[in-house]
Amino acid sequence: MKTIGMIAGMSWESSLEYYRLVNEGVKARLGGLHSAKCVLVSVDFAEIEVLQRESRWDEATQAMIDVARQVQAGGADFLLICTNTMHKMAEQVQASIDIPLLHIADAAAKAIKARGLRKVGLLGTRFTMEENFYRGRLAEKYGLEVLIPDETDRAIVHHVIYEELVLGKIVPASKLEYQRIIENLIQQGAEGIILGCTEIGLLVKDEDSRVPLFDTTSIHALAAVEMALK
Ligand code: GLU
Repeated sequence: MKTIGMIAGMSWESSLEYYRLVNEGVKARLGGLHSAKCVLVSVDFAEIEVLQRESRWDEATQAMIDVARQVQAGGADFLLICTNTMHKMAEQVQASIDIPLLHIADAAAKAIKARGLRKVGLLGTRFTMEENFYRGRLAEKYGLEVLIPDETDRAIVHHVIYEELVLGKIVPASKLEYQRIIENLIQQGAEGIILGCTEIGLLVKDEDSRVPLFDTTSIHALAAVEMALK
């Protein structure tokens, strides 16, 4: 079994899910007392969030590179960045380490294509929804058409992530808002919805949508299990 490397803590609420999912995944595959071999380095999200909010992306990139090198030095065979947003600097991180990075958008795209879908809605932080590093990859590498909410709804989705979900707050009214926003994307033709922020799966579940949800946390974690056991 290969050792899974993880950059965690963005936020720890979702990193807990990653840790649980990779261990459950290995146990499901190998049975008995088997569990995942992991090296996990967890950051202080307050330090990262201020860099995001103030657009200090060079410093944020350097922070991710430093942690990635720590994970590699700890003996990981490959790396997961356990957040969608911080794939903004995935290329620079990959260029700074010798082990492969398992990109979260690649894992999501493969799951979507396996279901035969082509047009999907994307929910995430405003960085993930609005910038090209994520949507561009889905479109250019996988030919997916990606719909995002309008500006007002993007602000709501982003606000709920940073003011509630990363703090462990699950607010029923926010779930209704997310359901409304998902329904809008379906009306525009979305055949599936990418939960493109690793905490959204804590709020929105499969039964809350009439089209398939692609929860990047579980998709990424299970892709890691596959890679570890290959
Ligand atoms: N976990 C979130 C994501 O998947 C947001 C936190 C962050 O900004 O890294 O994008």
